[in-house]
Amino acid sequence: MRGLIWFRRDLRTLDNTALIEAIRAVSDSQNNEQGLLALFIVTPAQWKEHCLSPMQADLIRQRLLTLTTELKALNISLAVETVDSFRDCPSLITELCQRFDIERVFANAEYELNETSRDALVEEALAEHDIPFTLCSDKCVFMPGSLLNKQGSYFKVFTPFKKTWLQNFSVEQSVVYKPNLLDFNALYDPEFEYNGILDYPTVDSVQWHDNTKDVITELRRFAIERAPDYQQDRDFPALDGTSQLSPYLAIGMLSVRQCIARLLNGRHPEQLNEGEQTWLSELIWREFYQHLIYFEPKLCKGRAFVPWSENICWQGENAHLEKWQKGETGYPIVDAAMKQLNQTGWMHNRLRMVVASFLTKDLLLDWHDGEAYFMSKLVDGDFAANNGGWQWSASTGCDAQPYFRIFNPIAQGQRFDPDGSFVKQWLPELQTVPTKYVHSPWLWADFPSLDYPDPIVEHKQQREQALQMYKDAKASGS
Ligand SMILES: Cc1cc2nc3c(=O)[nH]c(=O)nc-3n(C[C@H](O)[C@H](O)[C@H](O)COP(=O)(O)OP(=O)(O)OC[C@H]3O[C@@H](n4cnc5c(N)ncnc54)[C@H](O)[C@@H]3O)c2cc1C
Repeated sequence: MRGLIWFRRDLRTLDNTALIEAIRAVSDSQNNEQGLLALFIVTPAQWKEHCLSPMQADLIRQRLLTLTTELKALNISLAVETVDSFRDCPSLITELCQRFDIERVFANAEYELNETSRDALVEEALAEHDIPFTLCSDKCVFMPGSLLNKQGSYFKVFTPFKKTWLQNFSVEQSVVYKPNLLDFNALYDPEFEYNGILDYPTVDSVQWHDNTKDVITELRRFAIERAPDYQQDRDFPALDGTSQLSPYLAIGMLSVRQCIARLLNGRHPEQLNEGEQTWLSELIWREFYQHLIYFEPKLCKGRAFVPWSENICWQGENAHLEKWQKGETGYPIVDAAMKQLNQTGWMHNRLRMVVASFLTKDLLLDWHDGEAYFMSKLVDGDFAANNGGWQWSASTGCDAQPYFRIFNPIAQGQRFDPDGSFVKQWLPELQTVPTKYVHSPWLWADFPSLDYPDPIVEHKQQREQALQMYKDAKASGS
């Protein structure tokens, strides 16, 4: 049998459920015509519509080169094809199947609406040629639908979701599978040779790894050296307290099972210390949001989870959006965070919450603008986590923070960057500011000598306006 393995956001050979299933099916088949072709489809128009960041595009580009080598070692060659959008995938795949006499297609399931619609169309097109399309569960430990509440519905609150997740988890679910080597020649067509050029803008992602060995080393190092202290360090952006593995999870260079297996290292979750348990919780948050988009496709259409919150009349000034994007708001913790995002494609989680709260509840601007900007810059952009994070911060989401919880950007800075070292790293113009004033430099006598803006809004005043804005929306019902 000849098979096709279609890679999407699962760019790895280790512990890739669809790849392992495809190799098994091909190897078990009885005829002599065995072979497996791998495929990745670049969809520039679709990526643009999804605001895929040029840095993530570059990481994908680089990763496709290293993946090609990894697959070659398994006797599989990778074809990288470009079509405009998801709509063009069914015809491309059926043509390839005909050209290579492919009898089965394999891929890992994705849960976003456009992706599920694409897969339904591909399945339909392949069915016309009697080619089965097997979608495997790979992205989460528990596939959406396998964890339900007592009413048989999906969880709308994280804590019971996590409790059920942990109750149902068995160590076997974190077993990491290696693919077997295929002992036949690769299906190959020189036309598919990947030249490393993507028909999409890219920004250098060199500070992130593109090969599996380095990513696994990072994971191992984090699990051994930093996960035990994760609980106490994770909120301080100046510390190296979190894993920074999100870019690899986002494009699937790393599976969630690999993370959990490494963390557990033979133990049961109950045997983890507090720091390690908290890190596991974050991986479960990731899964919570994956389940949510599957059950609430409206989230993929730009809708809010909480109906009344769609009545919010965002009253902010458009000009402030650009100031926020550039990190020129006059609030050091916000500005430093935005500079970190703009320069590295990554932002610390505490700061993602701070800048998202600032955009929506200080600048009174629509969370959709922040969501799109994040996607356009993040190297770890992931629709479910990003939408979940934005709707959590804007209090429009599922199990979100209440609308009256509004971060004070000065207090957040003082609490989580007490000596101002993070702020000074990203805003060198504040280097000389005494620690006492580093999160409110306008109070320092020498402020006029600095090349740093005045705050564009006054927090206390904006807070009152935000509360009224939310109250009005809530009062107008759903
Ligand atoms: C406004 C906002 C936008 C966000 N956008 C994204 C995004 O586009 N992509 C993304 O991966 N995460 C996003 N997050 C979640 C979180 O900030 C990042 O996953 C985290 O900062 C990545 O750093 P890390 O790998 O060091 O995380 P760690 O703290 O080491 O956590 C390990 C992994 O768990 C997952 N994770 C951690 N926190 C969350 C969370 N709150 N929700 C979902 N998954 C989580 C990530 O895969 C992460 O890599 C967003 C959060 C907010 C508040």
